[in-house]
Amino acid sequence: MSDKHQRPRTRLVEGGRREEWRRRLVNPPVERASTILFDSVGELEADRPALGNYHYGLQGTATHWALSEALTQLEPGAAGTALYPSGLAAITTAILAVLKPGDELLVTDAVYGPTRKFCGTFLKRYGVTTRYYDPLIGAGIAELIGDDTRAILIESPGSLTMEVQDVPAICGIARERGLVTLIDNTWATPLLFPALAAGVDISILAATKYVGGHADLMLGTATATEQYFADLQTLSWDLGHSVSADDAWLASRGLRTMAVRLKAHEEGALKLVQWLKGRSEVGLILHPALPDCPGHELWKRDFKGSSGLFAFELLNGDRSALVDRLELFGIGFSWGGYESLALPVDPIRTVSKPPAANLVRLHVGLEDPDDLIADLSQAFEWIARG
Ligand SMILES: *Cc1c(COP(=O)(O)O)cnc(C)c1O
Repeated sequence: MSDKHQRPRTRLVEGGRREEWRRRLVNPPVERASTILFDSVGELEADRPALGNYHYGLQGTATHWALSEALTQLEPGAAGTALYPSGLAAITTAILAVLKPGDELLVTDAVYGPTRKFCGTFLKRYGVTTRYYDPLIGAGIAELIGDDTRAILIESPGSLTMEVQDVPAICGIARERGLVTLIDNTWATPLLFPALAAGVDISILAATKYVGGHADLMLGTATATEQYFADLQTLSWDLGHSVSADDAWLASRGLRTMAVRLKAHEEGALKLVQWLKGRSEVGLILHPALPDCPGHELWKRDFKGSSGLFAFELLNGDRSALVDRLELFGIGFSWGGYESLALPVDPIRTVSKPPAANLVRLHVGLEDPDDLIADLSQAFEWIARG
């Protein structure tokens, strides 16, 4: 059966496991290297940096190539995947790979906070202007495109507020107007939203989250079409980005179980959402599977499911006191690991209004959802007592 006909779960198992890389092992082993030795000066001088070619530590080893290839095989329409030392590095480097000073970048107003900061600081100094757009703009994005507009950075659902965007409509217009589209696809991963098939040119993951899945590594990836992949990979090497073989290996290990983990995160989150809906302390719940979440219809049309991250509005009471009181939910940055997390979050917007304030974000891990519900229940009762 050719790769093309394998379903995503099979590709998760098979992807990147070339015999030349793993030999008789199930997994390509951790190959740590800086120096690669050549047989002669002539051989060294003739060698070129490329994925799949032992050249220098910066270009990686079979451990890295196997992860890249597995991610590429997950995304129909992809030509390759570049690895970065963090999700944020993947986003910023991919932006730099497609823009030059004088260009304008359109960015969703619901973008991940550190990405917004990069646009307002480094990109601005570099001579690129950023214009934010309402995440619900859809085909209306056509009106924002000017002579200097070169790229659109999408994130769907949006960080913290979960608006789902009309990605096919935005990408269709971008293609007509000769713009490149990038998406931060960390929430859905290619399993729930195959972004390139929806028309996106470059799909970025904070692999720190669901790919790694165990809260023990930092990694970013950008998977691109033939048109953009070489530029992405070249800039990442020109900037000297390198990923440790141990982290690449851990990410490959995480990837193999991503489908079953995502399913469990989804089921747990939906169970908590149903329970939260019945609580008088809770206002809006921002989860794409709920009809009142902005973009819910688009989620139903375009996504194959939901993951474990969502937010809810606490109507009264102190959010921080609620989070502090929780026992099973950790307090900390990041998400996507096997363990549950809770955090008060405050969306920053310049164009559109967040759908709710006083938000608490939950990442639902792999614990028994009934234990998580019991934990939330005791915390709600505790803050109600004042
Ligand atoms: C965490 C996150 C990132 C950044 O990933 P790091 O690996 O932590 O740098 C980017 N986008 C989204 C949506 C994230 O949640």
